[in-house]
Amino acid sequence: MEPSGGLTAAKDGGGEVAHQLPPRGHLGVPFSSVSIPDPLADEHFMRLALLSGEEASIAGDMPVGAIAVRNGEVIASTFNTKEATGDPTAHAEMLALRAASSALGRWRLPDVTLYSTLEPCMMCAGAIVLARIGRLVFATRDPRTGAAGSVFDVLDHPMLNHRVSVTEGILAEEAADRLRMFARALRNREARSAHLPDK
Ligand code: ZN
Repeated sequence: MEPSGGLTAAKDGGGEVAHQLPPRGHLGVPFSSVSIPDPLADEHFMRLALLSGEEASIAGDMPVGAIAVRNGEVIASTFNTKEATGDPTAHAEMLALRAASSALGRWRLPDVTLYSTLEPCMMCAGAIVLARIGRLVFATRDPRTGAAGSVFDVLDHPMLNHRVSVTEGILAEEAADRLRMFARALRNREARSAHLPDK
């Protein structure tokens, strides 16, 4: 059994104690210091994730942004850099997990809420489980590769010993619009280059 992360936040003494009696997740494991879902806070952080995602499109990457939050404070802000770096694992969520772990000096992140503008893929959902992320908030679903319920449900799999609390649909329309705009621009660019004569 893994120790609960309940003492981790209290040790730092920074933020106020979220709960006297923390809510309990699956298997009776406390959600630690993960705050109670607050729609206004979720919207605020998702807006930051959307802004971060905008930076991805500059390099031709799909505009997906992620933000890691602990005790109401942003500890990582990342965006998809797959095309920019040529790294197939450089999804916004993977980079946010790495940055959050690096900021906190540990790989277990039960007190961290991860915000992503798009439903995580299988790789990212797997990494979210391995990092013991307490809560995931995502904006819009990905019907092609989503692993938080669309194609797979890695985050609530009965065989895994860690379940992630998931909230979806925060600023979903804005995130979906942005992805559609990007896809349309990409198609137009490809169509234009297909019509260019060979040198
Ligand atoms: Zn991913």
